Amino acid sequence: MTDLTETHHVPAREARMVALAAGDIVDVVNTHGGQVVDTWAFPQDAPGEYMSMEHSRILHYRMTFRPGDVLCTDAWRTILTFMEDTSPGVHDTLCPACCAPSYEIFYGHEGYHDNCADNLRAAFDRMGRNPPRIPTPWNLFMETVIRDNDTLEDNPSRTGPGQYVRLRAEMDCLFAVSACPQDLIVINGTDGVPRDVELRVTRAA
Ligand SMILES: [Zn+2]
Repeated sequence: MTDLTETHHVPAREARMVALAAGDIVDVVNTHGGQVVDTWAFPQDAPGEYMSMEHSRILHYRMTFRPGDVLCTDAWRTILTFMEDTSPGVHDTLCPACCAPSYEIFYGHEGYHDNCADNLRAAFDRMGRNPPRIPTPWNLFMETVIRDNDTLEDNPSRTGPGQYVRLRAEMDCLFAVSACPQDLIVINGTDGVPRDVELRVTRAA
């Protein structure tokens, strides 16, 4: 029997992109635990269209997604199904990707800081594609939660080593993740240190 599973290593502070065909399954694996993983998907047949947090929230009329939910694009097309989750199950849908200015504006960082927005642009470059505007990612394992129906609160990710989220592509798409380089606040585990993660892709055929 042919092994149809591929492993893609995602180094700490970097992004990787893989092309998925409809029916392919991808596990986003938190290899060492505690790592926030910004996650995007883009239809192959419609440049500019993207997996949309704002549309997917309204599709389910909830702020977060659960196994069994589908995620849709900004044209309301189903792009991924959320199949399984072995993590504590908290995945932010609100925060935009960190970017070079955000490290200066929010944390007073001087000079360039690695960031998820530039990581996604670099991943498009490596695929020979034009980078889009950066959509709000699905921030897997990121425990930014809503308190008192209003206030946002950042907590360290409690995801354990080897825990994962399993997704299925529902259309041919480009799928990208960034192992968030945030090291100025403690969201990446209790020590706030960015670490590498892994994509395990099982091809449908
Ligand atoms: Zn980030």
